[in-house]
Amino acid sequence: MEPGSEAQASPSIALPGLLAAGSKHAATIHTVADQETLSGWGLIERPGREVRSEDLAAITVGAGLTRGLGRSYGDSSLPAAGTWVAASPLADRLLAFDQQSGILHAEAGLSLREINRLFWPRLWTSPVLPGTQDITLGGMVAADVHGKNHHVDGTFGRHLEWLLIRLADGEIVTTSRERDPDLFRATVGGMGLTGHILEVAVRLQPIPSPWIRAESERIAGVDEFVSALREAATDWPFTVGWFDALATGTKLGRGILMKGRWAQPAEAPVEPPSPKMRLAVPFTLPNWTLNRLSMWAFNKLYFHLHPRGVKTGIVHPESFFHPLDVIRHWNRIYGRRGFTQHQCVLPEGERPGAARRLLEELTARGGLSCLCVIKDCGEQGEGLLSFPRPGITIAIDLPAGPGIQELIDGLNRRVLAEGGRIYLAKDTFARAEDFQAMEPRLAEFEQLRRRWDPAGRLSSAQAVRLFGDGA
Ligand SMILES: Cc1cc2nc3c(=O)[nH]c(=O)nc-3n(C[C@H](O)[C@H](O)[C@H](O)COP(=O)(O)OP(=O)(O)OC[C@H]3O[C@@H](n4cnc5c(N)ncnc54)[C@H](O)[C@@H]3O)c2cc1C
Repeated sequence: MEPGSEAQASPSIALPGLLAAGSKHAATIHTVADQETLSGWGLIERPGREVRSEDLAAITVGAGLTRGLGRSYGDSSLPAAGTWVAASPLADRLLAFDQQSGILHAEAGLSLREINRLFWPRLWTSPVLPGTQDITLGGMVAADVHGKNHHVDGTFGRHLEWLLIRLADGEIVTTSRERDPDLFRATVGGMGLTGHILEVAVRLQPIPSPWIRAESERIAGVDEFVSALREAATDWPFTVGWFDALATGTKLGRGILMKGRWAQPAEAPVEPPSPKMRLAVPFTLPNWTLNRLSMWAFNKLYFHLHPRGVKTGIVHPESFFHPLDVIRHWNRIYGRRGFTQHQCVLPEGERPGAARRLLEELTARGGLSCLCVIKDCGEQGEGLLSFPRPGITIAIDLPAGPGIQELIDGLNRRVLAEGGRIYLAKDTFARAEDFQAMEPRLAEFEQLRRRWDPAGRLSSAQAVRLFGDGA
């Protein structure tokens, strides 16, 4: 039930043993991280201080930003100079679940991993499952995340009921499509810049079983990938491709297309899937571990390990949705230099061949990557800065270090020329002028942001870099 509303549409049913999942110790824990630098998933450090507590409402008073599990790659979850960031992961209580409507009400620090663990065996799922489950509800809202079903179900924002937010002036308000709809639109995908998200109400989806019926096949090149994704979209709710960015000529962008749907009970094992065992990269590897030869060998092997025909099977949902999570700290393989991801969406329908031209740009500039993902996107969401729009999205992991700025500049100029845009949650190196040229919606976002935060109290290192905060 939305806070402050008079009537309750359907009764909230506490599932035994479930709502206790995030229960707390008697005393509220506050910790101030003692390190003076922070980083996103790309491990590029910036000065910054983080305060953690089970009481998110308390630590957001006066904070310049809130962050979740820091799985955004660059500086979007890092505070602007002179402020600190409140961290939500200890505020992870499940507050209510309504079995009739599927509406889950929880604190913003609840992780998708917990939601999966608790709800898959009960035949419910988050409507959007990004490539990692080590993210929080707050981070899912603020980045308006998308998954392999974007062509069917859109972004996370589409499934939200309401949000409880602390505004920059300290007031706590509820926002939804009905209450302060502009605040709602600006907060979904607004990268934490409109307020601190304290609680989230989202509608989960029922599933026939917690297992996935999957199919995969080899794809010969990038143009074929674009067509194959479009074709698969008509029959499959989940589609995604891995491609080899180091193959050249007619093999440019060859890879593996993966398709899936929730398995019917008759196809699936009787037992629900157990959480996967996880290995870990124990320390940061030397920079040279990932070089042109090792990446080329990995890509070739990965492609050729897949049989020539169609591979089918019932697979664990974690393996299907979050394959990289099986190795904790995999970001350490990039070494101390860290890494970034360039993710863009290109309006391939209006500009056929845009995906191929982006890969040609990458290859011509000598870009090295072994983790490249391609996916088609459906309709644009209601979030004012929400990333996906109809077209093809391409995500390319790239080691940082010498030459990275020029490479990102080159890719961004290509994205601009094609009429596309980049994903803030992945960005570390874009220049303000490029981002602003890609994002005609920014002016309206900034106008709304200033309405709720006229003094400019909320900011991030990324907003300083890209939006001109503090200039
Ligand atoms: C391996 C991997 C795969 C990924 N795959 C996908 C994918 O398939 N699709 C996709 O869309 N994204 C994907 N991502 C990106 C990730 O989903 C987003 O960056 C997400 O926002 C991370 O959530 P978080 O809790 O770690 O947030 P953080 O990284 O900590 O923060 C991200 C942004 O959200 C804001 N924020 C977080 N919590 C709050 C809050 N409570 N109140 C206000 N603002 C808040 C922060 O200020 C920041 O701007 C992937 C990331 C990784 C590492």
